[in-house]
Amino acid sequence: MSYDTTNIFARILREELPCKKICEDANFLAFYTITPLAPVHALIIPKGAFTDAHDFNKNASEEEIVGFYKGVAKVTEILDLHKTGFRQISNCGINGGQEVPHYHIHILGGGKLGSMVSKSID
Ligand code: AMP
Repeated sequence: MSYDTTNIFARILREELPCKKICEDANFLAFYTITPLAPVHALIIPKGAFTDAHDFNKNASEEEIVGFYKGVAKVTEILDLHKTGFRQISNCGINGGQEVPHYHIHILGGGKLGSMVSKSID
């Protein structure tokens, strides 16, 4: 799938849309989701144009990958989730339930999160 430059996160990166920013650097931007599923629910996105987890894992440079995941650690500490635990999720593609086609990681915490997947396999 080619990258859609009109997706919501691309527009946030271009500052065409607002976000509730947590922090950023050259490699990532972190902000709160508009639909929190936990007491703390943040999103971390790379600055580069990657559609999903597989695109990022396969095509990002080492600098982009290291910078992004160091950013995830930074956000986790800013939100004080590293002491009590958290969940790190990336939905990918149709079966993964991805809604926004710009790679992102969800960080959820601030309380017990329950089981990882609500729907059991038939
Ligand atoms: P996913 O289903 O993994 O693609 O997750 C997309 C996430 O982006 C969901 O948590 C949405 O609520 C969130 N989201 C969508 N639009 C915005 C927005 N304008 N600002 C912040 N979060 C958003």
